[in-house]
Parts: sequence; C-alpha cells; structure tokens
Amino acid sequence: MTVRPIRELGDPVLRTPADEVRSFDKELAALVRDLEETVDHPGRAGVAAPQIGVGLRAFSYNVDGRIGHVVNPRVVELSEETQDGDEGCLSIPGIWAPTVRAMHAVVEGFDVHGEPVRLEGSGLMARALQHEVDHLDGRVFLDRLTGDARKAALRALRERA
Ligand SMILES: [Zn+2]
Repeated sequence: MTVRPIRELGDPVLRTPADEVRSFDKELAALVRDLEETVDHPGRAGVAAPQIGVGLRAFSYNVDGRIGHVVNPRVVELSEETQDGDEGCLSIPGIWAPTVRAMHAVVEGFDVHGEPVRLEGSGLMARALQHEVDHLDGRVFLDRLTGDARKAALRALRERA
C-alpha cells in the first residue's frame, strides 16, 4: 500500500503540463497502483499524477463507490448543459468555490495495459473528469472561476496563508 503525499499549490509540478505516457511498463503499473490507493479515501474524487509529484498524463477517480484510472486521457465530449456546484482540490485544502463545469463529459484514453478505455459520466463524475484532465494541463479549478467566485476564493487563499 502506498498512499502518496499530495503536492499543494505553489509546487511547480502542479503548473507544468504533464507528458504523455509512452510505455505501458512496470513503472506505469506502480504509478497507477499508487494513484488508486491514494484516491481510496472518503472525500477524494480524483488524484492526478502531478498531485503526487509525477509529471505524466494519468489520473485515478473514486466516484459512486467506483475506483479506476485513465492513462493519456482526452476529453472528447462536453455537454452544453452546465453544473455550478462547489468544487475543491486536495492540492488546495480548505478552499471550495462554485465552479461551472459541463454537466456531462466523455473521456477516452487507455488503461494500465494500454487497452483503450472510454469513461462517461454526469454530475460529480463529469466534474471529476474535467478537474483531473485540467491538472494534467497544469491547471487548477481556481483558474476556471470568474467574477465574485474567483475574488472570494483568492481572498480565502490569501487569508489561509
Ligand atoms: Zn485537484
């Protein structure tokens, strides 16, 4: 069991676009195992590799009692319908903000063995998919906020420091 420590905002790895996975080897299997073990906690919906300090395109999710992973994920479909619930991030503890996301999302990628996978979901699953792919592009949910929600979140972040 390896539950890896979570990197927090301020760590450059969270702001660096992650590299494509090129070989589906033992190292990738170990990374995927760590991602799935690290997300296997109440209140954790997803963990992207950069959050445990690894600059590769892979994430795990834990939604509705289902734990899984995707390697080299691509968002292939987002609904026009949106949702506006509170979102948070393990890398930005204590900060929650209403974040607009597509209500429905489809992600395609590969499993740890290199077999194609397609994940789709609505609500929390769609939010988790969008949030984790953002991490792989060096983005965090605060970047998605606008207007008063953004101001309030940045103020809370300053006050927390
Ligand atoms: Zn996050």
